[in-house]
Amino acid sequence: MADLLIKCMAVLTMDSEGDIINHGEIAVRDNLIYHVGPSGSTPADFKPERVLDYPRMVAMPGLVNCHTHAAMTLFRGYADDLPLMQWLNDKIWPLEALLIPEDIFQGTLLCCAEMIRGGTTTLADMYVEMDQVARAVDEAGLRAVLCRGMIGAGPDGESALAESVEFIQKWHCSAGGRITTMLGPHAPYTCPPVYLKQVIAAAKEMGVGIHIHLAETVDEVKEISDQYGKTPVALMEEVGLFELPVLAAHCVHLSDTDIDILARRQVGIAHNPQSNMKLASGVAPVSRLLHSGALVGLGTDGAASNNNVDMLEEMRTAALLQKLHTCDTSVLPAYQALHMATAGGARALGMQEQIGRLVSGLKADIILLDMHQPHLYPLFDIYAQIVYAAASSDVHTVLVDGRVVMENRRILTLDEDVVMAEAQRCADALVQRSNS
Ligand SMILES: [Zn+2]
Repeated sequence: MADLLIKCMAVLTMDSEGDIINHGEIAVRDNLIYHVGPSGSTPADFKPERVLDYPRMVAMPGLVNCHTHAAMTLFRGYADDLPLMQWLNDKIWPLEALLIPEDIFQGTLLCCAEMIRGGTTTLADMYVEMDQVARAVDEAGLRAVLCRGMIGAGPDGESALAESVEFIQKWHCSAGGRITTMLGPHAPYTCPPVYLKQVIAAAKEMGVGIHIHLAETVDEVKEISDQYGKTPVALMEEVGLFELPVLAAHCVHLSDTDIDILARRQVGIAHNPQSNMKLASGVAPVSRLLHSGALVGLGTDGAASNNNVDMLEEMRTAALLQKLHTCDTSVLPAYQALHMATAGGARALGMQEQIGRLVSGLKADIILLDMHQPHLYPLFDIYAQIVYAAASSDVHTVLVDGRVVMENRRILTLDEDVVMAEAQRCADALVQRSNS
């Protein structure tokens, strides 16, 4: 790839609070950040073939979506305002049973287009037919940590694990390193300890981490407590899950001991406030988790329970929700919210030495926000402006792994009209199959 120089109004490195380089520049060589500093500071031997000169834009790390089910964009708006179990049993699961591989591919592609537009450069995805997901992510040019969701309690537990192993062997560190993989036992209530132990053994053997839903609802905590006499987090500790790198989605209902375990074990937590709100699951104790030293990133969950994958919106919701819930305006301030969506998310995925900050040597996953817009004036505090006032439509240009995947709001890797038309076609055919 050509050497590239980005010049902009300010660079938010997200390396530490206040690390803002006014009139900054970022030199990109191949897929890496070669240099970051004030205007004119790039070493003279760097001769860029392209200069992106954007004096009214802010450069920051690409957003990291720590928990999603990308292909569920196909279910966007299909079933809303229902109780969780009714929503799953009557609407989502019957439709999911009818999905064909092409649906997963087109649904994921749609999600990738939406993510690029919203400045997301990395996603952690759990779903099925993961070959299709990986193909779509590769085509879109995004970075992803993928796992096949496994239900261990049912008849398909063994085959799901075998399929996962095959998927990992095929795709781990593929697409020039943009795609990595995990094992994805769905949740403690769908994967009994005996199954989880098999998963743990497989993960250790292959050297991959685990992505799981954990402590999402009151019902889950009650069911696990009734059955095992301990909380879901304590049960996971007992079965040995936390001996591995773990990405745990939700972590809404936690005891003080649970919080201690998650912090001590450095479990990556994906906080999904909009999904938790929409499914009336509860409010995760994010500020207490962060205070305990736990690793908290941000996710959107699937579009069916959100109903979009807009990380700027998610960040704002996270900050506002914690303030409301704790009746404390100082909780989850702007920098911390932005950190959760970038460097914190990278840390939760165990990728802090690759992404999440704009420092030399890390992957060039960079987004540019157009600050020259009425809703972003006047400018006092850049962090607050982005968290409380910016929108995904302000994302102007996106680089992933050194490659420009969107420039001036035009996606270069995908034909958006085709992607949208194909998604509509797949969704219509899917609903038609479910009615016949
Ligand atoms: Zn989920």
